[in-house]
Amino acid sequence: MTIATTFNDATVGAALDQAIALDLLKTGSFIDGDWVETSGGATFPVLDPATLEVLCHVADHGAVQAEAAVRAAENALAGWKVTPPRQRAALLEAWCALVERHKEALAEILTLENGKPLAESLAEIAYGNSYIKWYAEEAKRIEGAILPSLVPEAQAIVTREPVGVVAAITPWNFPSAMLARKVAPALAAGCTIVVKPSDETPLSALALTELAARAGIPAGVINVVIGKDAPAIGGVFTGSDRVRKVSFTGSTSVGKLLLAQCAGTVKKASMELGGNAPFIVFDDADLDKAIDGLMVCKYRNAGQVCTATNRVLVQRGVYEKFAEAFAKRAEALKVGHGLNQCELGPLINDASLSKVQNLVDSAVADGARVLCGGTTAEDMPKHYLPTVMTGITAEMQITGTEVFGPVAALIPFETEEEAIAIANSTEYGLASYFYTQDSARMWRVKDALEFGMVGVNTCALGNEIAPFGGVKESGIGREGGREGIEEYLESKYALMAP
Ligand code: NAD
Repeated sequence: MTIATTFNDATVGAALDQAIALDLLKTGSFIDGDWVETSGGATFPVLDPATLEVLCHVADHGAVQAEAAVRAAENALAGWKVTPPRQRAALLEAWCALVERHKEALAEILTLENGKPLAESLAEIAYGNSYIKWYAEEAKRIEGAILPSLVPEAQAIVTREPVGVVAAITPWNFPSAMLARKVAPALAAGCTIVVKPSDETPLSALALTELAARAGIPAGVINVVIGKDAPAIGGVFTGSDRVRKVSFTGSTSVGKLLLAQCAGTVKKASMELGGNAPFIVFDDADLDKAIDGLMVCKYRNAGQVCTATNRVLVQRGVYEKFAEAFAKRAEALKVGHGLNQCELGPLINDASLSKVQNLVDSAVADGARVLCGGTTAEDMPKHYLPTVMTGITAEMQITGTEVFGPVAALIPFETEEEAIAIANSTEYGLASYFYTQDSARMWRVKDALEFGMVGVNTCALGNEIAPFGGVKESGIGREGGREGIEEYLESKYALMAP
């Protein structure tokens, strides 16, 4: 393990020391119950996105280790799928307890590699852990059915079986929760799993996996492969006929690629993809509540959230007032290093910074007005300032793109019909939000929005009890709730005649 020693910030050094002391800073892949380092082979650095300091170097594994991980998961499947549900549940409960016990260290690791404020990291750890707990409980509620039989004296029986080996590929923006949201239901269903976390943020996935091993989850049931060559690792997962399901969270473009690759072996696939959430403020809304909601919906994780709003539609009557009040709140956000009690951290990398800047510049060139932000922080070049822009139209590039940055683009509208038409005019269909105090409108607009999730006068959509997911090009399948475990189960029908 190579750990950098040249930290400018003592807080960062202390957080790393703590992770090392707890043996949660892992730097290899986890295959068949063992940590696999590179033994002199290739490594890559994991960076603190706020400063570009190297946090540590991790193994750069590829197709060979991916193959080994799939083999390990296949070997472990026979034992795991017949492990009684109560025992699978107990192991998930034990994992959940360890995550709870180590939540501060896990949150620090998450902030170090992702940049998000520590309070948000703590919230993400709790959010991910709520899925581990929920699916520990659901493991005991996998029920079949006995159907009316058309054949005399026969029994028509439907049993539920695990799909088999699952491959999960996860993104950098919620590197801990996205792993938990996939691994927990897969294990509860009796599947074994191979995971490829994002190479931007492998440390959170590895720390969670270490705790799963400590909880007693058997060797081979969870395997994690880290490496920069995502197409090679992903190719092994999608090309293997032993892997029966792929669960992906990430961009729509990569999701489409993986779906096509899955076709070769006709795998089940769940896709949690990109979004372009509308946030509609009607003139009868409680504006203070709407501003509170938008602050979270736009600036959490610096806007790098699949459910973050990209298009803020504000009815003409309250447009100017809303924009001014919201910009005042946005401007007051404390920007800084995630470990230093800030409210807005850096963007993940330079590519994200230039994408966001280009979208803002293009909107300005097309006539938009910047009320605040519009550039990076003077002394923190990796932090994009909270930005509010008015004079946005539905035709601008920023309106049709998943911004993934702290930029609120405010579009004025006149009527409810117009707002719904603009909101639905996107290939995405993940989350949507609207604010109104008119109860008839609440039901009408909720029904009219073509999205998998709708927040009415609230933005707090995500929790373990609800089905999370999108329609259209935002994905296939749901994570969470009763539906989440279905993704990892097959129905077997037997007609049993005497
Ligand atoms: P990404 O698609 O670039 O990467 C996601 C994962 O796929 C990473 O692990 C990456 O290494 C891997 N990957 C990239 N190319 C691959 C390939 N050819 N084969 C196999 N794997 C490959 O996305 P990202 O930038 O990490 O994450 C941001 C995106 O994720 C956004 O679009 C966001 O909306 C989406 N997201 C969706 C949800 C959801 O629940 N719908 C949640 C979080 C993020």
